[in-house]
Amino acid sequence: MFIITSNDYIREDGRSFDQLRSLKIKSGVLKRADGSAYLEVGGNKILASVYGPRESFIRRLLKPNTGVIRCRYNMAPFSVDDRKRPGPDRRSTEISKITADALRPALLLEDYPMSMIDVSIEIIEAEGGTRCAGITAAAVALADAGIPMRDIVVGCAAGKVDGEIVLDLSEKEDKDGQSDVPIAILPRTNEVTLLQSDGKLTEEEFTKAIDLAIKGCHEISKIQKDALTAKMRDNS
Ligand code: UDP
Repeated sequence: MFIITSNDYIREDGRSFDQLRSLKIKSGVLKRADGSAYLEVGGNKILASVYGPRESFIRRLLKPNTGVIRCRYNMAPFSVDDRKRPGPDRRSTEISKITADALRPALLLEDYPMSMIDVSIEIIEAEGGTRCAGITAAAVALADAGIPMRDIVVGCAAGKVDGEIVLDLSEKEDKDGQSDVPIAILPRTNEVTLLQSDGKLTEEEFTKAIDLAIKGCHEISKIQKDALTAKMRDNS
């Protein structure tokens, strides 16, 4: 079904402006990780794993008064149309950093001095919005690892495409659109743990994009919790 609006803009996949792409999350998918999650949203396929809290051989990374979270976001060479050169680059280094920053406020790291939590996010197939989807998957993997948290962080983007503020941009919408605003929140309090923005938005459009992204986050949050409940049910 196509949604026709005032300026006749139709989303390429027929979604309404406030509609998420179809989303599936499964937790506890890896035997050797302490926690893990597999997530599919639109054409994205993402695997997140968590190891720790544990001691690290790299002693200089540890802190006497608090635990440390370290994230590694990695795009597989075959995950995108043009083969991605293997290994870290500027973009993956940035996303690894903002992912750790987005997840950290949920963790009670002060309870784990001299310990490291390692989070690995593997993008197996990418189709727009991988940073938010990676954060969402990583938060489920952290919960699956049994790590106590204030809340389960959730990420989602909204943006401007053909003059309309829309939720959860696909790769094509990201590339053709005028703006992309990825956010992550602690859903219980709506505390924002990630806020990025590219392109130009008026103040009114920016507020609309944030409100829409928060609405998306709350919908995704339910699916995160369902995934964790399903795993516990399977294990009982
Ligand atoms: N992308 C790509 N090659 C790259 C990096 C990204 O084809 O080397 C695609 C991929 O589908 C990604 C999208 O461009 O999801 C948008 O990338 P962006 O940097 O905006 O981050 P994301 O939206 O994935 O968080």
